[in-house]
Amino acid sequence: MEDLKYFKQFDIKFATLGIGIHEFDLKIDKTFFTKHNNEEIKDADIDIRLSLNKKETMCLFQFSLKGKLILVCDVCLENLEYIFHSEEELILKISNEKRQSEDENIVYIHSNEQIYNVEQFLYEIIYAQVPMRKSHQDMNQTCNQEMIQWIEINSKEQAQHTDPRWETLKDIKLENN
Ligand SMILES: [Zn+2]
Repeated sequence: MEDLKYFKQFDIKFATLGIGIHEFDLKIDKTFFTKHNNEEIKDADIDIRLSLNKKETMCLFQFSLKGKLILVCDVCLENLEYIFHSEEELILKISNEKRQSEDENIVYIHSNEQIYNVEQFLYEIIYAQVPMRKSHQDMNQTCNQEMIQWIEINSKEQAQHTDPRWETLKDIKLENN
């Protein structure tokens, strides 16, 4: 149960911490995506430094993320490395009543709670990093030219093959009417 142990790192036991700043090192790699299935992210290698500032009635989480995502190039369909660095903040407000937060960076938590799990928050941050356009050129890398040629040849062949089939389908439709 290696995975279970891996995911434990995201349970932040804030209640037992003393007032002041505490630091944690978290790691996101392929194991993370065995649970958070994502078609766009093939792999990842991200180091996260979490600096937690505990106060009387709140905890301030500051995340510094550094690393890379392995995405798929839109042009040549080969893997590409996307390097990124991001700073994020999350405020945990400890309260005695249940409250909904309208701000995605503020969470209200009951004073009975001991642990806050940051896994989903991190997943959303990382997913937000995926750019709309993903190509080697945009990231100063080189596309696989052989793959591009292969894709071109294949799509041409497919177009040639598709036409007669469409014709046949049309004929069938006409007959049925
Ligand atoms: Zn490419």
